[in-house]
Amino acid sequence: MKSQLKIYNTLTKETSVFEPIHKGNVGMYVCGPTVYSNAHLGNARTYVSFDVIFRYLLHIGYKVRYVRNITDAGHLEGDQDEGDDKFAKKAKLEQVEPMEIVQRYTIDFHEVLKAFNNLPPSIEPTATGHIIEQIEMTKKILANGYAYEVNGTVYFDVEKFSKEFNYTALSNRNLDELLNNTRELDGQNEKKGRLDFALWIKAKPEHLMKWVSPWGEGFPGWHIECSAMSSKYLGNEFDIHGGGMDLVPTHHTNEIAQNLACHHTQPAKYWVHTNMLTINGQKMSKSLGNSFLPAELFEGNHSLLEKGYSPMTVRFFMLQAHYRSTLDFRNEALQAAEKGLNRLMNACKLVSHLKTSETSSFSVEDIKESVYAAMNEDFNTPIALAQIFEAVRYINLINDGKESISETDKTQLENLINTFVFEVLGLKNEQEAGADKIDGLMKMILGVRSDAKTKKDFATSDFIRDQLKELGIEIKDHKEGTNYSLT
Ligand code: AMP
Ligand code: ZN
Repeated sequence: MKSQLKIYNTLTKETSVFEPIHKGNVGMYVCGPTVYSNAHLGNARTYVSFDVIFRYLLHIGYKVRYVRNITDAGHLEGDQDEGDDKFAKKAKLEQVEPMEIVQRYTIDFHEVLKAFNNLPPSIEPTATGHIIEQIEMTKKILANGYAYEVNGTVYFDVEKFSKEFNYTALSNRNLDELLNNTRELDGQNEKKGRLDFALWIKAKPEHLMKWVSPWGEGFPGWHIECSAMSSKYLGNEFDIHGGGMDLVPTHHTNEIAQNLACHHTQPAKYWVHTNMLTINGQKMSKSLGNSFLPAELFEGNHSLLEKGYSPMTVRFFMLQAHYRSTLDFRNEALQAAEKGLNRLMNACKLVSHLKTSETSSFSVEDIKESVYAAMNEDFNTPIALAQIFEAVRYINLINDGKESISETDKTQLENLINTFVFEVLGLKNEQEAGADKIDGLMKMILGVRSDAKTKKDFATSDFIRDQLKELGIEIKDHKEGTNYSLT
């Protein structure tokens, strides 16, 4: 591979060569979901983008520790410091325990990501499992003088912090303008400054999820969990911190402030942000009411959908846009993605059956270089895919006898296309996945038939054989067992 991996860094606003802190290793932290509702397609886009980044880093030989948290406490309505937390509100509404809400939507989140063929992260820590670490960090920030306590709530002192550090380094916003545009503090508010945010929040008596702390019973603020868990598992300085772009101005800005105030270090060397999935140009979001669920998309069960699309079609559709560009949801684009994916899967099957010649009429090496060059340019999947489709074009032409390929080049092409499509882009052949299911079902049916025969229930065993035959499935009994073939 001639090119080197370059990554766009939101902090420096530049694309630069990726140099990990510890040679050969990558520590990557990505903000996980707030598990109080079903993961929508926009959330899925962000995690598919990081899945490809994770897969590519592994593919080029890094040992990666990928930490992605589950926010199961402390995330309040409207991302504010006051009011109900999102779990408590939903739990009250449905008359269940907040932890039942957490459990239900954590399972849903995992199922959605599995459907999209995402690899699981190396560690998936929860906020509720790291209360002690969050209290310790809050104590240290207080001791370092960047926070203050009022009536059991601890606030981060943004004004004090800004005297020594650049609070808006990540968002590039103008601090004075921010101060002027932020809602005026009313007399009731305990905060000293308009931009101050809570590290620890005093719990009202009726609040269910609360823990004992040096400041009384309460629960952690939303931002402190990611600071505490990233430093615990990846150290005070690690390589990549990611999340959706909407997290830049508040959540990630505050995370950086907390880490600097606690450890005097910037947590991550590279800040990577994915752009939003939009509908008619508007961010897909639960609160805007324009979101839909992956399951609705797979089934075609939504007024915005003309029909259903398979998970791999949707993954392919997502990969056709660069992760830093917005991606607008459109039926036509999904239809095109469905056709493109079929073409790609057919080529993957065809490539191993190609007839070889003495020489090749094109350069596989050049195509391979361009695929890697695209991925090395800040994980540019649309350009990498375009190059893969150049290979697909050749595969079809060779098959039609219009181009030729040598034996060694064929092996190289087979390798390139299979590794890239399945290992790096994380696509899978859904038709073959269907074949696995048929195989599982057949084993089950043949097991039932074998039991029937043991019990001398030949009526049932013959019935199963005849019914299968009608479906075009022939079964043959041998000494070793029974096998089947699709006729
Ligand atoms: P949340 O569960 O709201 O904390 O969001 C989980 C992740 O999904 C965050 O990284 C968000 O930035 C991301 N996200 C939310 N909405 C969208 C969207 N429409 N497109 C892409 N990513 C999104
Ligand atoms: Zn976070």
